[in-house]
Amino acid sequence: MAVLCRVNLSKMAASTFKALLNYIDGEWCTSGATEFLNVVNPATAQVLAKVPLSPKSDVEVATSAAATAFQGWRRVPPTERVQYLFKLKFLLEEHLEELAQTITWECGKTLAESKGELERAIENVEVACGIPMLMQGYNLEDIARGIDEMMIRQPVGVIAIIAPFNFPGMIPFWFLPYAIACGNTCIIKPSEKVPLTLQKVFELLEKTGLPKGVVNLVNGAKEVVDAILEHPTIRAVSFVGSSPVAQYVYGKAASFGKRVQCQGGAKNPIIVLPDADMEMTTRIAADSAFGCAGQRCLAASVAVTVGEARERFTNAIAQAAETRIVGYGLDEKVQMGPVITSQSQARIEQLIQQGTDEGATVLVDGRNTKISGYEQGNFIRPTILENVSPKSELARTEIFGPVLGLMHLETIEEAIALVNSGQWGNMACLFTSSGAAARQFRYEAEAGNIGINIGVAAPMAFFPFSGWKDSFYGDLHGQGRDAVEFFTQTKVVVERWPKNWSRQF
Ligand code: NAD
Repeated sequence: MAVLCRVNLSKMAASTFKALLNYIDGEWCTSGATEFLNVVNPATAQVLAKVPLSPKSDVEVATSAAATAFQGWRRVPPTERVQYLFKLKFLLEEHLEELAQTITWECGKTLAESKGELERAIENVEVACGIPMLMQGYNLEDIARGIDEMMIRQPVGVIAIIAPFNFPGMIPFWFLPYAIACGNTCIIKPSEKVPLTLQKVFELLEKTGLPKGVVNLVNGAKEVVDAILEHPTIRAVSFVGSSPVAQYVYGKAASFGKRVQCQGGAKNPIIVLPDADMEMTTRIAADSAFGCAGQRCLAASVAVTVGEARERFTNAIAQAAETRIVGYGLDEKVQMGPVITSQSQARIEQLIQQGTDEGATVLVDGRNTKISGYEQGNFIRPTILENVSPKSELARTEIFGPVLGLMHLETIEEAIALVNSGQWGNMACLFTSSGAAARQFRYEAEAGNIGINIGVAAPMAFFPFSGWKDSFYGDLHGQGRDAVEFFTQTKVVVERWPKNWSRQF
């Protein structure tokens, strides 16, 4: 395979752009692609690079490299495997600033948000360094006289990770460190909208000295995904993205006999009770709804006020929306960047219109935003829709932009019933100073991630990134012990060693 020169991202962002390379079997190599997409800075509309839409044959080469590497890698003791992760942690920390800049260039979020996501990535590497403990099985002597039984965990084989656009520096790390620490080898397909961050990450992975073929990067879109799903050698697939694609990947991977975990979309409600600390609640709710321009799977999309909370919360959140500073994520004072593409901007603006058509009123209107100096950017200011009907289409649709819908109910029971009535189950949050209300909510709300006086209930690396209903297809989630279970298969051994065995034979 042809090996080309390494890509210098800083030069690339500054001026020219070139086709990105795949990383297969320890080499940077050209894709066999005949089609390419532009990678575009969503704030400036500057083209940063061309990403190849790799063909099936690139997946074939990567899988073959990963399968060969697996034979040696699974025999490396876990204590040695994690040494590469220790190196990776320090390299990620050392290069955090440039990685964060890359995320902001291609994804649009603020530099602080980019750094925050990388810190979450590093935490996952740290947790996976505990694999010599986490991967242990269990055993019992004398399950019958003179017979012992043990359960050991072994790696699954070649695994694949398919990532979305909104956290290019974090989401692959919900899976990658655990997968390789457990002795698997892997292929990662980044989102074609934001492929630059993983180019940088792979430069660091290369510096750790990982054996060739343990980690492979194949750029592309649907053709790469389908090739992964159909390939008989790939044993497990970890996917994060929108629910329709999650459902597709889940069904197809399962039909090809793979284990699969698919984290999907969301429509996250937050409930505000009258006894909530309104100043804190507003600040947290605004960060949840408008942070990362609302492009978080844990973004608050609906705020339900209960009883007397209505007026105070509505006024305060409207003010928070109006005063949020929107602009280019690399500008220091900016609190919110653009959305990912102009198509996404148009879709969000159309959904705001749909909300008003369905009877909501626009309290704060972020449409038709132009940011001075960044007129080509995909900017939408924070938007608040009041009186969103629970029966409306908008109340069920994932917007994935800086839009918060307000609803009002009279009791916490009604609010919990509303939370549970939807198809989604990624996150639900309650704001209150009542322990009893908090317990009722935690107990009854049907969502995988619950926040009590928290607006983005993102689990730490040592907990599963949960998700219920249409927000998740599968059984084991990303991160922590779930990831270790997902990336290992259990083997049970029953042993008998008679004392006089050697004399008999
Ligand atoms: P997406 O579904 O468009 O893309 C995700 C991945 O699937 C990409 O790598 C893409 O190339 C691939 N893909 C897209 N269409 C495909 C198709 N038809 N066939 C095969 N592969 C396809 O998602 P996105 O827009 O990149 O990301 C945003 C979505 O991800 C939102 O819905 C968000 O809620 C969700 N998300 C969920 C979580 C979670 O943990 N639940 C976390 C982050 C993002």
